[in-house]
Parts: sequence; structure tokens; C-alpha cells
Amino acid sequence: MADTGWKLKNTYTELPEIFFTEMKLNPVKSPEIIFLNSLLAKELGLNIEELKKQVDVLAGNKVPSGSIPIAKAYGGHQFGHFTILGDGRALLLGEQVTQNGKMVDIELKGSGRTPYSRGGDGRASIGPMIREYIMSEAMHALNIPSSRGLAVVTTGENIRRETLEKGAILTRVASSHIRVGTFEYAASRGREKDLKELSDYTINRHFKDIKNNNNPYLALLKEVIKNQASLISKWQLVGFIHGVMNTDNVTISGETIDYGPCAFMDIYDPETVFSSIDRGGRYAYGNQVNITLWNLSRFAETLIPLIDEDKDKAIDLCKDELSEFKNLYSKYYLVGMRKKLGLFNEEEEDLGLVTQLLNIMYEKKLDYTNTFRQLTLDKIEAGELKGWYDKWKERLDRQDESLEEVVELMKNNNPNIIPRNFRVEEAIKSAEDKEDYSLTEKLVDALTNPYDYSDKFDEYTKLPPKSEKPYKTYCGT
Ligand code: AMP
Ligand code: MG
Repeated sequence: MADTGWKLKNTYTELPEIFFTEMKLNPVKSPEIIFLNSLLAKELGLNIEELKKQVDVLAGNKVPSGSIPIAKAYGGHQFGHFTILGDGRALLLGEQVTQNGKMVDIELKGSGRTPYSRGGDGRASIGPMIREYIMSEAMHALNIPSSRGLAVVTTGENIRRETLEKGAILTRVASSHIRVGTFEYAASRGREKDLKELSDYTINRHFKDIKNNNNPYLALLKEVIKNQASLISKWQLVGFIHGVMNTDNVTISGETIDYGPCAFMDIYDPETVFSSIDRGGRYAYGNQVNITLWNLSRFAETLIPLIDEDKDKAIDLCKDELSEFKNLYSKYYLVGMRKKLGLFNEEEEDLGLVTQLLNIMYEKKLDYTNTFRQLTLDKIEAGELKGWYDKWKERLDRQDESLEEVVELMKNNNPNIIPRNFRVEEAIKSAEDKEDYSLTEKLVDALTNPYDYSDKFDEYTKLPPKSEKPYKTYCGT
């Protein structure tokens, strides 16, 4: 029999036992694979033909070779309030060593109850799992660090939400699932030894270079601030709204995880909120940068005892690092915006040019993605943008690069295709109602090539039909 290629380690189980619970599986009735990501399988060193036969592994009915399934403990500030949480419906099967020697978590999401389930059933329904699959693959293709989807299986069981829904399990792959909330959990338990072991594990796994730094824990904070500043700049540049930026959904690795009520903004408006549970707009598009700093401040607090014996000194050191966040973010954002506008060199006034464009988009209720797309294709009605268009053209003339080079840079930085909400919804609905998975397949195929400006995917560049009701997404349970 050919080998599937599982090379699972269980390094997380070497952490103190407060961090996880070893789990038995919660088998499901009659699982069926509905999506299998062959490109990702290959990257992971898995044999796709063998994996197709392993529906029982992807459904949590059978443990793959080398796996010790665990549910991880963590905490988190949810909408500002600290709670003890944990994998309430996920299992970490282990860490797969990929083809190029990287180590990534293989998790099942929707795999049943754990000691951290609180009131929940530990299950997930098909809609949210398909949504996470689509969105995470789209983000990855946009060159934004993200967890990925290896497979989605239906369980053959119904689960109770507002109505009865079909159960599903997503196999999720991520650099790790260590969260700001994992550190908050460690800190809340009050034992410095546990916190130190978690920090050392994290440094070893993600930031090997800082291991011998004279203050590795301060360096850890610095690295996490840098990664988050970079990540959020990428979200802002494409108009991605996460929707639930609670500290338990913020990774230390700097990858986007936990795609619940997320969506891409259509019309440019910083106050855009899609999540039905975010009534105060805490996680609105225009608030994502400030909230990230808030979340990083919670992270910094957990590290204080490790950073210096003198608490006041540790706090000052943390504050210095945190004060760098906005500068870093602005730097990354402007670098990205220059590319979106086809600018190779730097001029003092570039940020002003960006701000003016955004202001016009806001006033005229222009679609964010399509405005950049039309600029790229030079198909915009110059009148729409008032005098801005001429100023931009003059700015382009003040650099040496040719028009072709400008267009090339813009094409590589302004997506032609994003996961428009109505497309995502129609794909999910057709899967839910008709067991027709072809729309999702087609959509993911298009989203996998977001910077492809050939007419192959033209239908996915269309704008959503005008609707009176603002679009809402619901927390994926
Ligand atoms: P999320 O909103 O997915 O980030 O989840 C927040 C917390 O709720 C995490 O601890 C999850 O494990 C838990 N949770 C979400 N849905 C369920 C469910 N159906 N059953 C048990 N726990 C859940
Ligand atoms: Mg979460």
C-alpha cells in the first residue's frame, strides 16, 4: 500500500500539561469528502490519491499515523473582556513536517466536544466551514499570511443551530495556533515557569534567530509587533475585514486565522462592519489598526515578568516597543500603497495622494477593489476622480519607469478578483441546499489567481447587485 505521507510530530505535547488535553476521537456517522486541496496536499508532502481514501482521518474517525490528538487551552479578550477558552471544537492532530522542512499544525475544526467546549456542541456546520475554506485560500493567493484549508468533509449528521444544519469538518493547516490568548492563558495561571516554557517553545518554533538575544522575550514582543503590523497592513491594502479580532484569534506567527464573520469591503468606507455580533463597530475596517495595537498591548502585558525583574523597567521597555507599532504599520502600508498606484520611487507627497484618492472614493461611494483595478487598466472615468487623476499621471511622469512597468507593478498589487460576498454566499447556498459543490470549486479556482488579468475569470470581477440591506455575516458556529 502506498504511503499517504503523514510525518506528524507532537511537539506541543512537550509543553506543561496545563496547555492541552489529550483527546479521544468523536467519530461521525457517514463522512464524505467534499473538497480536497491538491496543491496544498502536495506542499505538505501528502499523496493526494492516498489522502482521498482517508476520509476517516479527515473526519476525525481515525487517528493518522504518528498523531496524538489534543485540544489546546487558551484564553482571550472577547470584545474587550477576558475569558478562559480553548479548542472547543477543534483537535490538533500534530505537526506535519512539509516537503521543504517547515513544521505546520494539522487541525480538525468541527471535530466534537472537548473539555473546553463550555456550552457548545463541538461541531461546525457546512456553511461556515466552506466559507473558511474559500476565504483562507483567497487570502493565501493574495500573498497574505493565512491558515489554509486542506479538506472539508460532511459528517452525515445534522447539528442544531437556529435551524437544523449539515455538520462538516474542516482540516486546517497553519504555521501554529499559538495565539495572544495562549499567552494570556499562561499569564492568568500565574506560574512564571509555564509562561517561560510557552515563550521558549514559541521562539524555538517561529523566531529561532532571537534565541540567543540578550533579552529574547523583549525580542519576541518586537517580532510579534512587526509581524502583526505587516499582516494588518496587508488586510487594509486589500480591504479585508476580519470581523472578530479578539485576542484568541490573533496568532503569534502573524497569520490570519479563524475566519468567521469576515468579508471584503465593497464601497470604501472605514466604518464598514459585516459581523452581526459587532454592534459597536469595534472591529470595523477603520478600527483594525487600533485594535491590533490594543491586542498587542495585552500580549506585552503577559511578557512583563519575563522581560525584567524590575516591573517598572519591563513596562517601560514594552511601551517603547509598542510605540513602534504605528510607525511600522504606516511604513508597510505606504510601501503597499505606492505599489498599488504604480509608484517605484518615493516622494514626500505620496501619502497625501493616497489620502485624497480614498477621500474621493468615500464621497462618491466607489468600490474599493474596482477603483484600483480600473486605475490599473486605465479604464477609469477621469472625471469621477476630479483633479486627482491628472495629479497621479503627473506623479507617474516624475519617475523613470515605463508605462508597461507601471502597469505590471499595479497588476501584481491590485487584485482583479476578490471573494465578493454575494459570490461566496451563492457558492455556500448551492452547497447547502443542493449538494452542488461546483460553484465553490469554480470560485476557489478563480480566487487562486487573483492577480491574473486575463479574461478567463471575467465573471468574478463583476460588482454585487445593488441591495437595500447592508450585507451581514454571522459568526461561524
Ligand atoms: P471562535 O468564535 O470560533 O473564535 O470561537 C470562540 C470560542 O468558542 C473558542 O474557544 C471555540 O472553541 C468556542 N466554540 C465556538 N463554536 C463552538 C462549538 N460549536 N462548540 C464548542 N465550542 C465552540
Ligand atoms: Mg477563535
